[in-house]
This record gives sequence, structure tokens and C-alpha cells, in this order.
Amino acid sequence: MLDFVHYLNDCKFILVSNREPYEHMRGAHGIEIKQPPGGLVSALDPTMRHTHGTWVAWGSGSADRDVSDEAGRVQVPPEDPQYTIHRVWLDDADIEGYYHGFSNRALWPLCHMLIQHFEFRTEYWERYRAVNLRFAHAVADEAERCTGRSMAWIQDYHFALASEFLRAMRPSLFIHQFWHIPFPPPDILRLLPTGTHESLLRGMLGNDLAEFQIDRYAENFMDCVEQFIPEARVDPVRQMITFRDRVIHVGAFAISIDVERYEAMARMPETVDRVRTLRERYARDGRQLGVCVDRIDYTKGIPERLRALDTLWDESPELRGRFTFIFVATPSRSNVPAYNTLEREVVETTIAVNKKYGSRDWTPIVLINENVDADLLAAVYRAGDLCIVSSLQDGMNLVAKEFVACQVDERGVLMLSRFTGSAEEIEGACLINPFNVDGFVSAIRTSLDMSPDERRRRMRRMRRQLHNSTIFDWLDSILARATAIMSQQHATV
Ligand code: UDP
Repeated sequence: MLDFVHYLNDCKFILVSNREPYEHMRGAHGIEIKQPPGGLVSALDPTMRHTHGTWVAWGSGSADRDVSDEAGRVQVPPEDPQYTIHRVWLDDADIEGYYHGFSNRALWPLCHMLIQHFEFRTEYWERYRAVNLRFAHAVADEAERCTGRSMAWIQDYHFALASEFLRAMRPSLFIHQFWHIPFPPPDILRLLPTGTHESLLRGMLGNDLAEFQIDRYAENFMDCVEQFIPEARVDPVRQMITFRDRVIHVGAFAISIDVERYEAMARMPETVDRVRTLRERYARDGRQLGVCVDRIDYTKGIPERLRALDTLWDESPELRGRFTFIFVATPSRSNVPAYNTLEREVVETTIAVNKKYGSRDWTPIVLINENVDADLLAAVYRAGDLCIVSSLQDGMNLVAKEFVACQVDERGVLMLSRFTGSAEEIEGACLINPFNVDGFVSAIRTSLDMSPDERRRRMRRMRRQLHNSTIFDWLDSILARATAIMSQQHATV
């Protein structure tokens, strides 16, 4: 699992992300440690332990300052220190401007091409610049502490400007960046004010390697550079950009999940019990159970999915009582008004649909409006006859992969929006266009009617594919590419 660590043997590894891997929190019994859930932290934590590198991140825990030194550094994991977290301190105005403001209200909707949610404020942009500069200083400090080579790996759209700042501070540092969300085409990026979209691209050209989920996003990035940065030379075939006498490589690396972990969770005896309970309650006697899992976010196509279910039960009364849907919709980003409005809409629409079609002994949509742990999700995924992912745009979508990993009985059909990165990777899903309600409804009917043999054939294919493309393969391919470029640079110096 950790073969790729050898790529980092002779260089210091500095990882940069907005979220930190361990938060120190003030609790009732003193300082408690919290590890945020999520695949990225669980994949990168072991890598950091083995490489003894440094993770630069926002110090967001209420007791983080109490346990960190003057430079914001602390050793983790607390019980057996193996690597360093270098915390960057942000005040309320920073968090509002850099995180809720420019990252989540400007870049997030723009990159997902949902421009009705796009909101630009100069104050957001200035804070974003200032915070990116502060992160760049923290990384430069870390690189300074080591005499040999260093590699900085920056995560995501929170740091579009950090690489350029860092490049100016440490010209020979190897810097690469993974952009987890879609990258928009030029006509969308230029909705940022003149000067801003060019700055954002110049910021990303500070990297030696710019990584995207799929080829299309990498192509969009190169198209934007071609159009807005006249002094850059783009070679789309070789996926290389020449800018200020440097070469920036561009590549696609699809992120994935820890497949074995999900599969193991799906097979745990507690999960088997939960699956039995769920199926007895909702899928007895040939009835079918649909499932979905999302953060409540306007990119996920949740109203579109509810509309499709409403139309399905309206047009196919025979499915009332025969098809139930477990709808895991987790509250998210409640500081942004659009998210509160959407959450209200989801709850109200669910109540209305349940009232319209439900009966004393049947509730069409079982809404779970809270955060659900991975082990319970594994049971929901395994119990499902059908999983619907209907994102309007989605960089990858890990729920689709988790569903496939947990489908150990090979019973379920994956209905997957064409506008997810996963749809370009996974073969065997039933692809949908969430904007086309009639097509969506007819795809649900086709999926419900699909024979067990056809379901098994498709699921096997997807599972085989997924086993060959785990989060560890993703890490391996990125680090292999980055270190190959790094060696090439050394050879030509
Ligand atoms: N998730 C979770 N609990 C929930 C809802 C979601 O742990 O109640 C996890 C889910 O298992 C998945 C991640 O959140 O790992 C969502 O990732 P995805 O790529 O699908 O979408 P994102 O939220 O990153 O846009």
C-alpha cells in the first residue's frame, strides 16, 4: 500500500491543504484530538508518517494554539509523533474572505459552471491573496529548514495563488498542485474581473506540475492559459506550457477511495445486520430500495433528483409502495445563504412528496438530514438496489465509487450523472443527464427493471475497474510523475 513512499526517500515532503489532519479541541475533559473524516486525510496520513514530512494547514481547532510552538508547529500523531503539522492562523475576517468568500462563493460556483451562484467581492479576493501569501511563507519556512531537496504538494482551489508566491521565494523548490474540482473553460473563467482571472492563472503557473481529475479539466486549464496569458506557450498534445523560461507540466489523475477499506466495512458483521434490517423494512418481497448520499450542495442536482422521483411515482402508480428511497442529505456550508435555502427546499419537497404519495404503512422518501459515519454509509450502499448520483457538475464524485466498493452482493445499479468526473472513468453505470427530467425518470424505470444477471455483469465490471484504480494508485501515479519531472529538471540543470 505504501510502495510510493520510496519516491520521496531523498527529499522533504511538504503537503499543503486548507483542512488539517488533526485538530486539537477544548473538550469537557481537557484537550481532545479530532481527525476529520474523508478519504484524502486517511490516505495521506500514512504517507506523511512514513516520510516524516510536514503538513501545512489552517489551524482550525479551538486548542490548536495551546499545543503548537511559536512557529505554529506541532508533532503528530499525538500518541506516536511521526510528522509535523505547521499551522497557519486565520482570523474571522480571513475565514470569511478567503474561505467562505472567494473560495466558496466565487471559485466553487465558477468552477462548477453554476454561475447564478457566483459572487465576487474585492474584499474576498484581497483576503484570498493575503492568506495564499501567508501559506506560501509557511511552506518556504519549511523548505528552509532542510538542506536537501524539497517537494511541495498543494491541494485544491483554496490556493490558486500560493505556487507563484512560493516560486518567487524558493525558485528551485519543486511545486505541484492537485485541483480537486472541475476547471472551467475560458468563457466561464473570464466572469472573474479583468486582471483577476489572469492573476489566478499566473498563480497556478507557479507549479512545475498542475494536476486535474480528468483530461477535460486539464484541457480547459490549457485553453484558459492560451487565451488569457499571451506570453505563455501551450502545447496541448504534450500537455506542457512554457512560461517565463520554465516548463509547467499538466496532467489528469483521477482520485479514488480506499477500496479495500470500504469493502471490508461492507462485509463487517454489524453491517450485515444493518443491511438485513434495512432490506426487511424497505425491500421485502421484491420491493426495491434506492439510495443516495450527498452534502447538501447546489452542485449535486438534489432538486432535480427529487423532481424525477416525484414524476416517477406520479406517472407509475404501480411503483408506489414498491420502491422506497433512502436520501442521505448532509448539511454543509451553512454560512453561505444559498446552502440554507437549498436545505429548506430539500426538506420541504421531501415532506410534500411523502404527503402526496405516502400511505399509513409506506413513506416514499426516508430523509436522513445529518452527517452519517462511513460504517453506516457502507450498510446503506450495500442494501441499495439502486444508487443515484445526479450532480450538475462534479470534479469526480466519490459516493459513486463507495457504492461500487460496497456492492459486494452485486445487486445494485449505479445511475450516474454524465457531468461527474467518475462518469468518464467508470464503465457499467447507467448514465443520466439530470437536466432532462423525462430521460432521468425513464432511466430509473430501466434500472428498476434491469435483470439480476445484467446488474451483476455491470457491477462486476465496475468493481474490477475500481480495484485497479484506488486512492493509493492515484497517489502512486502523481508521485511517480512528479519525481520523474523533478529528476529530469536536475539532469538538465
Ligand atoms: N459523506 C459522509 N457522511 C455523510 C455524507 C457524505 O461521510 O453524511 C462522505 C462520503 O462518504 C464521501 C464524501 O463525503 O466520501 C463526499 O465526497 P464526494 O466526492 O461525493 O463529494 P464532495 O462532498 O467532496 O463534493
